[in-house]
Amino acid sequence: MPHDVARTEHALPLSSSKPWLLPLLLVVGAVAGFTIGGLWGEAIVSGDMPFFAGFLKLLGDLFMNALKMIVVPLIVCSMIVGMAALSEQHKVGKTFGYTFLYYFSTTLIAVSIGLVLVSIVHPGVGFGVDASVRSESVRVIRWYDALFDLVRGLVPSNLVEAAAKGNILGLLVFSLVFGGILTRIGEPGQKVIELAEAVNEVLMRIVRFLVWLAPLGIIGLVAYRVGQEGGGQAVWSELGRLAKYFLTVLGGLTIHAAFVLPLLLWIFTRRNPIRHAGHFAEPMLTAFSTASSAATLPLTIRSAEQNAGLDTKTSRFVLPLGATINMDGTALYEAVAVVFIAEAYGIHLSGAQLVVVLLTATLAAVGAAAIPQAGLVTMVMVLTAVHVPVEGVGILLSVDWLLDRFRTAINVWGDSVGAAIISEKFGKNPPD
Ligand code: ASP
Repeated sequence: MPHDVARTEHALPLSSSKPWLLPLLLVVGAVAGFTIGGLWGEAIVSGDMPFFAGFLKLLGDLFMNALKMIVVPLIVCSMIVGMAALSEQHKVGKTFGYTFLYYFSTTLIAVSIGLVLVSIVHPGVGFGVDASVRSESVRVIRWYDALFDLVRGLVPSNLVEAAAKGNILGLLVFSLVFGGILTRIGEPGQKVIELAEAVNEVLMRIVRFLVWLAPLGIIGLVAYRVGQEGGGQAVWSELGRLAKYFLTVLGGLTIHAAFVLPLLLWIFTRRNPIRHAGHFAEPMLTAFSTASSAATLPLTIRSAEQNAGLDTKTSRFVLPLGATINMDGTALYEAVAVVFIAEAYGIHLSGAQLVVVLLTATLAAVGAAAIPQAGLVTMVMVLTAVHVPVEGVGILLSVDWLLDRFRTAINVWGDSVGAAIISEKFGKNPPD
């Protein structure tokens, strides 16, 4: 009989005695990062403060590296354990079906919210494109080429290369097949499952230490990034220039995060959305600071198990998948951005073209890697599909790094709601 990790976990403290402390420190870290970057950003960029700049970068890099170091073995072992558990219980097909249904429908809802909002606000009308804005490296991407690339990535030719290059989807597929077959080869397979469970357990313990480094890492990441943008003054003036667009995306993200997802959570699990958000405050704040759902995954899994008490095996299966392909925030942003660019160029998009945006933005969000500003790259496909100049992404560049943080936090929020819903249906969640 496999060693039961869930049982071991109950021997661990499920939450610290002050559950608010870490989220508070993370907020303080982000605020400190914005303040430091805002005040001394220019000096950081110009190299006037080389030691300070180097130190901030070191803090940020150490935190990011530690998260990335954990994420590949965590994904592989989580998926093996999750898949093995599901296939032993003959629940693979149904769990997959419901998980994809959740991902697909919430992404479509998110894009629709974005499209409705952008059609009301028209942030790009009268924006007036600066013809000198050109992004040399942008190339046209057709939707079917993007789809073929996505499918091609599912079968990596070299697993080590996939791990090194962050082809998470390829690793997921391999781990799923591997975990599924493990349950069919008897005793030796059980031993490998036990090994994967033990590795998971060790990694989660490392994450428990790592989270306490997060506030410092976040100061470094945020301050250095604001510095790269030229400091507070420069950031404010860019935000002012693109305020209508920025606020339209933020408005859409808020509607989706504060109304749609909580409603779904309550309908399907009867969990209190505010308490659920509190359970996932750490990963959402980390997502905001790192702009990467993949790097945040160790914290998301930790919160699911130790704060929210979701069924371990189901959430370990659902969360890595979600981090890679379920990106509601990204999808919503892509839709708004594409219509904004079209308006800025004076191009009117017909109803049929908006449907194309709806579908391609969904695909673009699935195809976006869970790393910083990946959405900006896959947006080229949506622009190509509706014949809007792909150079248009250049208009958004100056504020994209900041919007990326908001949309990544919403991506992680969507994953957490999905994990709760799916593990309610297929796992054994204790009452909230
Ligand atoms: N940074 C996002 C994520 O990791 C992807 C994107 O929208 O660029 O979820």
